[in-house]
Amino acid sequence: MYDVAILGGGPSGLAAGVYAARSNLEVVIVERGLPGGQMQNTLEVENYPGFVEIIGPELSEKMHQHAMHFGVEWKQAEVKQLDMDGDVKTVYLSSGETIESRTIIIATGAQPRYLHVPGEKELSGRGVSYCATCDGAFFRNKKLAVIGGGDSAAEESVFLTKFASSVTIIHRRDEMRAQPILQDRAFKNEKIDFIWDSEVLEILGDAQVTGLRLRNRKTDDESTFDCDGVFIYVGFLPNSGYLDGSSLLDSEGYVMTDRDLATEIPGIFAAGDVRDTNLRQIITATSDGAVSAMSAYHYIEAHS
Ligand code: NAP
Repeated sequence: MYDVAILGGGPSGLAAGVYAARSNLEVVIVERGLPGGQMQNTLEVENYPGFVEIIGPELSEKMHQHAMHFGVEWKQAEVKQLDMDGDVKTVYLSSGETIESRTIIIATGAQPRYLHVPGEKELSGRGVSYCATCDGAFFRNKKLAVIGGGDSAAEESVFLTKFASSVTIIHRRDEMRAQPILQDRAFKNEKIDFIWDSEVLEILGDAQVTGLRLRNRKTDDESTFDCDGVFIYVGFLPNSGYLDGSSLLDSEGYVMTDRDLATEIPGIFAAGDVRDTNLRQIITATSDGAVSAMSAYHYIEAHS
């Protein structure tokens, strides 16, 4: 039996592993893919302290080695279901195997909602981005498009004007869904303009993004929009399907926690992007990992 079962091997899970293992706890991380989670798909990271510039897969590998160094066990499998009641929790895996643990840290992350159009996957990290905070600085004096009409599209477009020569918000309807104050900031910004009623059919470019193929949903007209980069903000999806129906989730599927990152079920904690949180960055994920691991440690101490 483990002391801590960490679900997800992204930055929050790996940091939780380091902190829990250094507290002399028996720790396992369950991850369905490669170590690092979304970092694996990040070409360059330049806002994680200590690394002026590092590629995502390399940072993933370093964090993985770090956790393994302190004796964390790594299991590659998908979590199917949890039994969270009682002092011993059970994690059911896709392999048919089960894990028993005194505590669980839910750290399965979130993923941007994709447009699912040709060119999106191929040009990801080559002009297609889902994170202005991460990638905006790579687009100094460039022409950018932002897709979406929500708070993220409005807020991140304004942020991108710090770098870009122009930002065009392309939205599928003729009005934004974003909060009025965020819309106002976008409307008043001289570097931002709008293309309404339009959907992206294709992201164009070979080695780098060169433009978008658009369709006007009212007139059916197709057009090409030239740009150097496109930031897609059409929503986020938490990886919390295995918790469907549980009282731990809010209406969007994010795990609700208190300031110690404890959920309402004793012994169950959450960390990183799967939590309802405002900033989703590597540094906030690792910070969550540390807090959740120490909360798990204190829970175990109190229940020994
Ligand atoms: P969101 O509110 O779900 O908005 C997604 C936007 O993308 C909508 O405008 C939607 O269009 C559009 N969209 C969805 N699927 C699309 C598709 N396949 N093709 C083209 N457009 C598509 O997502 P979000 O802006 O990322 O915000 C997520 C949550 O975080 C929200 O609750 C938001 O309030 C919150 N948030 C808050 C702040 C803040 O308070 N400062 C900042 C960022 C995010 P339609 O409008 O036509 O549906």
